[in-house]
Amino acid sequence: MDLTSLRSHNDRTVLRLVRSGALSRASIAAEAGLTPQAVSKIVARLMAAGLVEETGAVRDGGRGKPRMALQLAPGGACAYGAYVDRDELRVVELDLTGEVVSSTVVPLAPMFTPDDVLAELEPLVPAGEKVLGLGIAIAGPLDFPAGVVSPNGLPGWSAVPLRALAEERLGLPVVVDKDTNAAVLAEAWRRPLEDAALVFVGTGLGAGLLLGGEVHRGVRSGAGEFGHMTIQLDGPLCVCGRRGCVEAVHAAATGAEAARVLAVAVTNLVQLLDVGQIVLSGRKVLESPELYLRAMPDVPVSVTSAGPDLVPVGAGLLVLGELF
Ligand SMILES: [Zn+2]
Repeated sequence: MDLTSLRSHNDRTVLRLVRSGALSRASIAAEAGLTPQAVSKIVARLMAAGLVEETGAVRDGGRGKPRMALQLAPGGACAYGAYVDRDELRVVELDLTGEVVSSTVVPLAPMFTPDDVLAELEPLVPAGEKVLGLGIAIAGPLDFPAGVVSPNGLPGWSAVPLRALAEERLGLPVVVDKDTNAAVLAEAWRRPLEDAALVFVGTGLGAGLLLGGEVHRGVRSGAGEFGHMTIQLDGPLCVCGRRGCVEAVHAAATGAEAARVLAVAVTNLVQLLDVGQIVLSGRKVLESPELYLRAMPDVPVSVTSAGPDLVPVGAGLLVLGELF
C-alpha cells in the first residue's frame, strides 16, 4: 500500500484524533487547531484511501444540526508483526485499529537460521495492496536504524541484516526492533503510559523503556539490556558471554528465589530511572504472576493484561504506528 501521500503531520494528527474516539470534522478541527476546510480535505483523502469511515450522526453538544462522526475503517489497512523467540515464531495480523485479526505460532528447531525464519514467514505474511508492512521483534543486541541483529541466545546469528533479507524475500517494508521495545510499545498502545519499564521474562530477560512517552533505544540501540546487568560478580555464565547477569542468575534460581532475583534487578532499575510504572510480562511471569508481584519493590507494578502475543503485536505496531 502506498501511503506516502498520507504521511504528512496533519494527516497523522487527524488519524490520531479519529482513533481516540468517534469525532466529527468540526471537533477534529477544534482539537487539532486546523481550519474546518483543511480537515474536510484531509478527511476526504483519508476516506478515499479507505482508512476512515463515517459512523453515523452525533450531536457535538450544540443545538445545531447533527454531525457525522468518523472512525477508523478497521479493514482499511493491515500490518503484520512477528516475534522471533528462541524456540518459536509468533506472527499476528493487525487491522488498522491495532486489533489482532489472526495469530499463528510455529515452533523453531534448535539452531534455526535466518533463512529458516524467512521460509516460515513467507506464507504467513503475504504482500497486498492494504498491507503496510511487517515488524519483526527479536532479542538484542541489534542496530535499530540498520536493521542488523546479533541476538543473544541464537547461536550463529551474528550481524544478520534481517531487515534487508526480509524485505527482499517478502517484498514488503520491514522494521526490525528489540522484543522488549515492541512489548512496551504494545502496552502503551493499550493504555496511557508515559514513564514506564516493561520487564520481560521469557526465554531471555530484558526491559523495554518508555521515557517521556517515547521508546528509549539509546545511542547504539543498546538501551534496555536489563537482563545483562551484572548482579553477582563471578556468578553463573550468561548467554551473552559474561558472568553473573540478571538473566543468568534468574535462570539458575527457581520459584520465589527467581522472583527475588528479578525484584533486586527491578529495584536497581527504579533507583536509576525513577520510572512511574513497572509492567511485568513474558511467559515466565504469566506462568506465576502472583509469585513475581509479591516480590516486587514498593512502586506501582502490574502484570500485562496482554497474553503471549504482546511482543508480535508491538512489532506490528512499529509499522502501524507510523500512520499516527
Ligand atoms: Zn548476560
